Amino acid sequence: MPKLVNPSDIARETLKQLATRRIAPTPENYQRIYHEIAETTPESGNEIEKELIGALQTVGREHPQSNNVFKNIVQALEQRDWKAFTLHFEALIAQKRTEQTGWADLIRDLIRQWDLKQTGLTTPRKKDALERVLINFGKNPEELLNKLRSLVKAWNEGTSGPADIAVDISPAEESSKKAQVEDRLGAPIGPLAGAEEVPGMLSDLLAKALLNGVMPRIAHFPELASRANALAAQARNADDLEHLNQFAKDIRQFWIELELRADADQEVLDGLMRLLRLLIDNITELLLDDQWLRGQLNIVQDIIANPLTPVVITEAEQRIKEVVFKQGTLKHSLNEAKASLKNLVTMFISRMGEMSESTGDYHVKIENYVVKISQTEDLPTINTVLQDLIADTKSMHLDMVRSHEDLKNARRQAEAAEQKMHELEIELGQVSELIYQDHLTGTLNRRGLDEAFIREFARAKRGQTPISIAMLDIDHFKKINDTFGHDVGDQALVHLASVIKEILRPMDVVARFGGEEFVIILPDTVVADGVNIMTRLQRDLTKRYFLHENEKLLITFSAGVAQRESEETADAMIARADNALYRAKQAGRNRVFAAEAK
Ligand code: GH3
Ligand code: MG
Ligand code: MG
Repeated sequence: MPKLVNPSDIARETLKQLATRRIAPTPENYQRIYHEIAETTPESGNEIEKELIGALQTVGREHPQSNNVFKNIVQALEQRDWKAFTLHFEALIAQKRTEQTGWADLIRDLIRQWDLKQTGLTTPRKKDALERVLINFGKNPEELLNKLRSLVKAWNEGTSGPADIAVDISPAEESSKKAQVEDRLGAPIGPLAGAEEVPGMLSDLLAKALLNGVMPRIAHFPELASRANALAAQARNADDLEHLNQFAKDIRQFWIELELRADADQEVLDGLMRLLRLLIDNITELLLDDQWLRGQLNIVQDIIANPLTPVVITEAEQRIKEVVFKQGTLKHSLNEAKASLKNLVTMFISRMGEMSESTGDYHVKIENYVVKISQTEDLPTINTVLQDLIADTKSMHLDMVRSHEDLKNARRQAEAAEQKMHELEIELGQVSELIYQDHLTGTLNRRGLDEAFIREFARAKRGQTPISIAMLDIDHFKKINDTFGHDVGDQALVHLASVIKEILRPMDVVARFGGEEFVIILPDTVVADGVNIMTRLQRDLTKRYFLHENEKLLITFSAGVAQRESEETADAMIARADNALYRAKQAGRNRVFAAEAK
């Protein structure tokens, strides 16, 4: 059979052969027979083409910027359009050549910016930014080229690097957080139009807002701080709308990063607070019976239950330090007292040992004398025995007396040491009580008052005795503060508290309830007596005036007194006393009113 050339002839012959040779008509078999007839090698050329197209597509994907050129080359190859193929290939080579010259330019710029001294940009920071770009984008030359260009541009503008390099969190997390912040910030400000020039004052205000308002708050983020600095400079130079619009864009980017950082800060703070709470809760569980430490822990618990301010924290720190210091000294003395008691007990025991030894000797001697006496009839011998016996008894007696004295001494010392220990323990308890005291006046604070209420209510119930409270508020205290200053106001409060403590009975409990309000618990007192006690206090206060720079300042107060009705709560009593106090103020101040019954 002559060699077939026409493809349709070959195809027809192929089908014929498949049928006569009873070969399954699969595409592979069709192809094989086709090539047999056409006398061509199966897939020659085709294979290379496929490989080439695959390779071109992969390279194209890896180089997004040249991807279109690669697509064109592939297309030309598939269509076997060799002219187009050559054209596109040349375009690709030309592009690569420009990229290479791009690198040369970039390196030149990079060296120049590296050597320049931009304000706020140190060489280590430049190195840091450069390293980050190299690490993040080093695998992709095109992207690397672009990022390095942005970096050099940023240095030129005085910032350490473009925004996408500066933020340190993972890209996915960053983009989701960023989206949230962008949402909050709303749409970017559209380009400003209108007046050509930006008033100098506005630029200056913007710069000042950044330098004075923002900078101090981000001092611990050097990168952000230096960007704020650069933005301030940018604001100062923004003297036309074009620059101002650019500034608006840049500062929006800056806000986004700032918010992300602030969120992170808050998260750290929240986390620390949670840890602290956990720690405190657990320690309190473990130390239920350790009064000393509980005092300190109570302070911390109080602080973290309320919003934190630097003032609150500093004050608490001061109080904890005081308590810790006082407890430290007392504990030292207590340990010394304990050690000396231990010495005494040891001495006591060894004395006891000595005594029983000497009495043991005595027994043996007596037994010997008894034997000697029973065995002799000889008077002089008996006499000698008796004399020995008397001598021995004498020394025995002396031993006994000495030991007895020693023991008595030891007991006295042991008792003294025990007493000392007891006193120290009480004192330690009192130091812990500091936690229940108001810092300024030394009276109880609210916490102390709560405890006192529980204690005194229980006592009154046990003894079936009445109990009253007085609520007292200084008259026109604001005037004292306004006229003489807050410090003098404080001294007046200390003065009032000391007069109250001096005048009242030791069993009465004084607590500072608020600024210049005090609550006094009066055990074993009916309301009429309570009113009398407070009125007497008013009189005494006019005699024990408060001196300020040799000037007598008269402090007066108004008060309400309430007697506890059966099972009434402390809060209810306070409310009734407060009501009476209010009426006393209304009636012209410097008076004491009894509360109305429930
Ligand atoms: P009134 O007779 O109606 O009680 O008049 P007042 O001026 O005392 O009025 P009010 O009770 O409303 O004001 C109390 C003032 O006491 C307000 C506050 O400035 C001041 N104050 C509260 N706590 C302290 C403090 O610890 N020290 C000083 N110096 N002043 C305080
Ligand atoms: Mg008041
Ligand atoms: Mg007042």
